[in-house]
Amino acid sequence: MKAVYILSIRNTVMEHSASWRIAGGIGLRVKNESHKLSRLIPKFHFCSVPLFREEPLINWTYTDAVLFTAYDLYRSHDYWLDEVVNSGSTLKDALVNLGFPKANSLVIDTGVFEIETKKAGISKELGIDVNIELSKAQIFEAYELSGADFFVAPDEIILPLDGPERVKEKVDIIKSNLIDLLDIVKASKTIAVIQGHEQEIVDDLLDFYRENKIGCLAVGGVIPLYHYDKELLSKHLSYVRKAAKSEWLHIFGLSRMSLLPYYLQQVKLDSVDTSALTYLTAGRKYLVGLKPIPVRLVDFDNCTCPGCRALSKEMSTRSVEFFANLYIHNVMTASLESMKKYDTPALRDVQTEKESATQVKTEQRNNNESGWMTAEEALHEKGKNQ
Ligand SMILES: [Zn+2]
Repeated sequence: MKAVYILSIRNTVMEHSASWRIAGGIGLRVKNESHKLSRLIPKFHFCSVPLFREEPLINWTYTDAVLFTAYDLYRSHDYWLDEVVNSGSTLKDALVNLGFPKANSLVIDTGVFEIETKKAGISKELGIDVNIELSKAQIFEAYELSGADFFVAPDEIILPLDGPERVKEKVDIIKSNLIDLLDIVKASKTIAVIQGHEQEIVDDLLDFYRENKIGCLAVGGVIPLYHYDKELLSKHLSYVRKAAKSEWLHIFGLSRMSLLPYYLQQVKLDSVDTSALTYLTAGRKYLVGLKPIPVRLVDFDNCTCPGCRALSKEMSTRSVEFFANLYIHNVMTASLESMKKYDTPALRDVQTEKESATQVKTEQRNNNESGWMTAEEALHEKGKNQ
């Protein structure tokens, strides 16, 4: 019954654009849990992008945890997924059968933020109605099918300008979602999200999560707050980190690599996920430290990582093999950087740095040689030419 439900819903979800998200890390065990999370938790789009199910990416050993979304499952039209759903296997087991290391943690998130971003972003600009809504029931179906090691509790994004009534409404939904999730998932496998930027809201959610024995938390709503008021975000993050001293604290949304030392070294958050590395890789940028440079300027012999050992100047930069190995290099480099000591800048200074995911995307659009244009970018190009 469940399988049929998932399939029928998947076929009704309309998807007009696809984008790739990413990040990497070195393992740290979460309290009371046999599985590990890592400093970087890359997005692993195995539901919708077949190359994640093939070598070398399927043999993922570059971080101890990867993240995928319920949204990624519903937007996929991949036949492999239909087979898994019909077989009654979990997605994790199916991945393990393909070679994915069982000890590697699979983290599932809703992907709702990504959907909201699409609605507000490029699709709106092009006048396309993004007809995607994931109900809580759909999200939970995907969660049950996933066989994941960690489950992000479905939340509501509290926006900086939400009034007190709206905030209260959202907090109530966040709490009731968690209670429902705990019916199907153990507290030790749950990641609960802190939303809002007022201390009173943070304290209230923290108390609630502790009552429910949640040891792993995440800060959400960061990107809207970043754009609204960086100083406020900075204060908010310090406050949450202090208040949640004993919990694992993840942050959603590393929009640019230069924020990595700020989040992990300065604020001392435990882990982060990001799309920036996928965009860098799609734009054929190669990380030297946290600085992305065009692959044509790179001597792959200067790095001994498994990605660079497989890369060569002779390889077509449009091939799947090239993408996969460049991605491995970028994830491994970002993972190493995430462990390094930096003289970390204040958040207000980070924004002035040139490199950002948005910028990479723009460069990529302007690059006619790009063979890795995402559907989103292709749509944008099409829109410009009409
Ligand atoms: Zn390398």
